[in-house]
Amino acid sequence: MNDNQGEKLHWRLIPGMVLLLVFALFAWSVVEDARFSSDRIGVYLNDSDDGILVEAVEPGLPAEDAGARSGDVVVAVENEPVADLASLSEVFGRHHQPGQALAITVQRDGREIRLELVPGTPPDLVRLLAQLVLVAAYLGLALLASRHQHRDIRARLLMVFVALVAIEMALPPDYMLGETGALVIILTWMVLTGVQIAVELHLVSLIPDRLRMLARHRFIVPGFYIVGALISLALIASILHQWHTEDSIYSELLLNLQAGIMLAWAIVVSAILAWQAWLANTPRGRNQAMLVLFGLLPWVLYIGLSSLWSGWAEIDTRLAFQIESFVLLFFPAAVFVAIFRFGLFDIEQIVRRGVVYSVVATLALIVLYMLLTAALPWFTQTLGEEFGLWLVTGIAVVCGILFRPLRVAVESLVEHGLFPERRALRKRLIEIAGSLSQQPNMDDLLNRLAEQSRQTLDLAWTAVVTIEQHGTEQRSAFSEGMDERRRQDLMQVLGTESPVFLHLSRSKRPISIRRLKRHLRDQGRALERIGAELLVPLYFQRRMIGILCLSSKHSGELFVREELELLDLFSHQIAASFENLRLFQDATYEELTGLLRREAVMRQLQAESGRAVRSARPLSVFMIDIDHFKPINDVHGHLFGDLILQRVAEVMHDSIRAVDSLGRYGGEEFLLVAPDTDSEGARRLASKLRQAVYDLEFTAPDGDSQVRVTISIGFSTSGAAQTDPEILTKELLSQADAAVFAAKRRGRNRIMESTESTPSSRPANNR
Ligand code: GH3
Ligand code: MG
Ligand code: MG
Repeated sequence: MNDNQGEKLHWRLIPGMVLLLVFALFAWSVVEDARFSSDRIGVYLNDSDDGILVEAVEPGLPAEDAGARSGDVVVAVENEPVADLASLSEVFGRHHQPGQALAITVQRDGREIRLELVPGTPPDLVRLLAQLVLVAAYLGLALLASRHQHRDIRARLLMVFVALVAIEMALPPDYMLGETGALVIILTWMVLTGVQIAVELHLVSLIPDRLRMLARHRFIVPGFYIVGALISLALIASILHQWHTEDSIYSELLLNLQAGIMLAWAIVVSAILAWQAWLANTPRGRNQAMLVLFGLLPWVLYIGLSSLWSGWAEIDTRLAFQIESFVLLFFPAAVFVAIFRFGLFDIEQIVRRGVVYSVVATLALIVLYMLLTAALPWFTQTLGEEFGLWLVTGIAVVCGILFRPLRVAVESLVEHGLFPERRALRKRLIEIAGSLSQQPNMDDLLNRLAEQSRQTLDLAWTAVVTIEQHGTEQRSAFSEGMDERRRQDLMQVLGTESPVFLHLSRSKRPISIRRLKRHLRDQGRALERIGAELLVPLYFQRRMIGILCLSSKHSGELFVREELELLDLFSHQIAASFENLRLFQDATYEELTGLLRREAVMRQLQAESGRAVRSARPLSVFMIDIDHFKPINDVHGHLFGDLILQRVAEVMHDSIRAVDSLGRYGGEEFLLVAPDTDSEGARRLASKLRQAVYDLEFTAPDGDSQVRVTISIGFSTSGAAQTDPEILTKELLSQADAAVFAAKRRGRNRIMESTESTPSSRPANNR
């Protein structure tokens, strides 16, 4: 067995031993409780100057039944006088027989009253049960932590801490034991307190990660334990000193000392956590530290309240002890969640719930009202009874009115101070969504979406895949960081009719690959291999139009719920931009050739006419018609005719400038608008088009014959004379039309300018 295994075994044995110890202690507790109950009469007694004073009488117990009241002074038991608690205890013990009545004499208002009572109450089962539940809760946490502790020193510290608390809680309470027993219990508490302080300080200095200072100053961690030991020693020394000199271990001074130590402890631990949250470089780290700080808060409040509020002393000590154990439970639970279950838990959601803002604002106001109430006497004194009262009332009313703005201020403070990344992310996503709606075409839009979302979310890669829908083919775009192999693998999973689309169209929300795997195992696994982490459906009016596929983050952090919600919102924006662009394109471009529709090219012509008139620049308009197209359709079929139309459109589109507009005017007629083009330039452009189409060669569907097509072009160029754009449009159009008609008449495969009466070029009949 090597050292490592030895260590593991050693860490595995400890939980078992702790468990045994705790159960043994609890069993002792039960026994002591039974013994204590059999003597119990239900009064709180204290030595006072007048004698043994009854401070309180518990309802429903023998003392109350016999008529005891607080304020009574115990003077005798079975007629034997008693002067202080020690002698009372001795005389009581001598006379008490289980089940038999006892006479206790008390002095009330100068008279002596004899009370007959039978000591003994049933065991306090509720208290025992509460104790057991709390001990079990701490033990449960210790066991949970012990399952992780070979990986993480924080888990070991957590385990040690909760085990110590479990031991502390399983011990019988001091008031049940004789004085020596109580002394032992209290000294044990003091030892446990010192160790708990050290372990807790050490633990919080490691959440979320080791405090940087610890790496630089190696003495700090041992320092925690030295401080813990010193505190234990100081407490033990003062208790023993007290025990020797005063014969009692409960003195005001000692209680104050303990309260001071607890308060300092609570403040230091909270400060370390707050500092850790402040220093954390990642939102995750900061949230972890904050989660633990929130978990610690109930205990800190308890400590603060019990040490600063004097009324706390009135509270039943047994109850106080259990309250403390309960409020402390949140701390180790928060540590556990922060270290091991962070992905399941989203502190941001909790903190950002509106109710939290309201609660914080309310607390702030309550503090204000309290201050006001405290200041009221001062106001009435300095300003006079009536005016002071009115002033304070006025201020109170103003405070009430301030509630809403205060709540908003708290909210923005929390948003700015605690979650700057989320704010930045939201802003960035809104910007991206805005920039997407300005993209001129689908591919630009999708590429931009992929790359920008990758950068913004700090991902390895991002992909967008759209769904094939009536007539539109499936499109995809990939960000940087996605190699060819990955792209192919992804398209295998997200190809046309992928079941993933169907699944997402049902869930309608972003879904992690981990969850997808439960429903679609193969696809989930394939996506996981590529490194995908999240699929975000793109929805537009209840129709899914695509998927945004995100890889894991560079930082290794998971997506938190807030981000998922933002992405969900963002996806609707994207889908809307996408659909808008698609509708715009459908309305502008013609399906078969991808050229402008007739209306779109006409709009273009009108716009250019206006511009030509305003700037007095030449504008040329071309009417282009394929020659003898009908016979081609008749011989080879319409599908072949369509193919020719597509190719002719394509080569013509490739021959024009970006500022020129080419549209499908009719069946096999095209309209070309070329701004800033004089008659000379128009002639050159026309002959380029004619040649490009002439050079095309098609293989007929039958397979052996070659087919060629030619085009006839008529064009017209605006002169400087025309000043009305509308008339210019009409003129250019009709002249170009007439010109192409002339070109047809003269034999086709040629170019005619509207003002000319002779063909501008000879048919090129040899090549
Ligand atoms: P020309 O212009 O040289 O006088 O002869 P043409 O045969 O081209 O004459 P016309 O303009 O009368 O014929 C147009 C033909 O174009 C009619 C129709 O068969 C065909 N056509 C129109 N639109 C389409 C289309 O979208 N697809 C196919 N395949 N053919 C079309
Ligand atoms: Mg024709
Ligand atoms: Mg025609």
